[in-house]
Amino acid sequence: MRVLVTGGAGYIGSHTILELMAQGHDVCVLDNYSNASPEVLTRVRALSNGTIADFKGDIRDAKTLDDIMATFRPEAVIHFAGLKAVGESQEKPLHYYDVNVSGTLTLLHAMGRVGCRRIVFSSSATVYGEPDYLPCDEAHPTRPMSVYGRSKLMVEDILKDWAAAHPAASAVILRYFNPVGAHASTRIGEDPQDIPNNLMPYIAQVAVGKRDKLTIFGDDYDTADGTGLRDYIHVVDLARAHVAALDYAARKAGARPFNIGTGQSYSVKDMVAAFSRACGKDIPTVIAGRRSGDIAAIHADATRAKDELGWTASHTLDDMTASTWAWQSANPNGYDD
Ligand code: NAD
Ligand code: UDP
Repeated sequence: MRVLVTGGAGYIGSHTILELMAQGHDVCVLDNYSNASPEVLTRVRALSNGTIADFKGDIRDAKTLDDIMATFRPEAVIHFAGLKAVGESQEKPLHYYDVNVSGTLTLLHAMGRVGCRRIVFSSSATVYGEPDYLPCDEAHPTRPMSVYGRSKLMVEDILKDWAAAHPAASAVILRYFNPVGAHASTRIGEDPQDIPNNLMPYIAQVAVGKRDKLTIFGDDYDTADGTGLRDYIHVVDLARAHVAALDYAARKAGARPFNIGTGQSYSVKDMVAAFSRACGKDIPTVIAGRRSGDIAAIHADATRAKDELGWTASHTLDDMTASTWAWQSANPNGYDD
């Protein structure tokens, strides 16, 4: 299939391109490089057969999208492009709604002009907010607690209305839990441009000596060791979920959300201990207060993805920490190395 990958130079997009190409799909990337290095595609090309079309541009730019639709003629779109920092979303709500929501509308209009009616969308478990029950299935109520989360839920609603209005259209909504890890080659991985917001890249930067210590946000949650519990998912498993979602989109019309997680959760302290094992060093930590907007615990019921997409996660926690460490130690300065 010819697949347009928006945000394809990003962390999850770059891993997904490799899996798509391994399955024989033709790929075209649109990215504005606001949170990615052009070096990413150089490395992805070196790891694959190299035939990736790419366009530099903004997802909100209808002209760029029309150019891509006319020249590449995608049969499906995987839509990663967007902004993802929860804290920043609270400070710049209009910017987040503009990129994440208006950007998706611009994309759907451009797809409509060439009759492309298949999309796989990057949503997030953050749409659930504080869970009423665990594991969290797709029927769980949605009540996101940040601008970022609300922007994801708005796009989910738009895709449901879009699919309802176009009977042949298919929108596969993937609600990612916590993506971590890196490709086995150590050539691509997560490379935060600033101080990492997320746990795993922060721990990795402590291990490699770029930061002194990890601040643990709260050890007074109602969990076994008092720290937050999350469902961490290896980015290569997540990438493969997109390939399965494309196959599904070719078979099934309508809009459908799927949880993409392992179904298992680990605490912040579990993650620190596992990373310490992987890198053979102590990770200094300090306990601080809870981070605003954080929930105590969540993990996925991923039964629907197993039954309908034929997808399950296969990587272990040790695979996640070992691959993160392999990437970080081979590229201490990320794509600048
Ligand atoms: P990322 O920032 O690495 O990738 C996003 C890519 O989109 C980047 O390459 C960036 O340059 C590009 N981009 C941003 N704004 C753009 C615009 N206006 N026009 C064109 N390109 C633009 O993030 P990621 O971790 O790979 O996440 C990919 C998607 O998955 C995002 O939509 C994110 O919200 C979602 N998601 C991520 C996580 C996570 O923890 N990483 C969890 C749940 C959902
Ligand atoms: N966390 C932490 N210190 C950090 C970053 C994260 O203690 O520097 C904790 C956070 O409070 C949560 C877990 O690690 O319990 C995962 O946070 P992350 O930001 O990676 O993902 P989230 O689930 O919040 O999207």
